[in-house]
Amino acid sequence: MTTIEALHWCEDFQINIITKTKKLAERHRFALDATSVAKAAIMCRIPVEPAQYRVNCDFVQIGNTKWCKGTTVHKCPCCDNFVSRMHKFCYNCGQAMDWGNE
Ligand SMILES: [Zn+2]
Repeated sequence: MTTIEALHWCEDFQINIITKTKKLAERHRFALDATSVAKAAIMCRIPVEPAQYRVNCDFVQIGNTKWCKGTTVHKCPCCDNFVSRMHKFCYNCGQAMDWGNE
């Protein structure tokens, strides 16, 4: 099963519970909550393009490197934390990064 297939399975499962259940029992609410958590974890694995950010203060430190004013660096679009091209995942929230073909 691929990541996208797992995400679609969770979505279909939630839709089935909501549309086929007239009154949500506690176990249905639990299943909806559990699949919501699973969807969030799965979506973290789907790479997203990092947001570009131009340094507008004296410098920004990312890891051991300082980036001077005017330099373009990158931020995680999910948590707004600075990210480095050296990493495939945001070290703050775990979101997979899509750095393109660079
Ligand atoms: Zn993040």
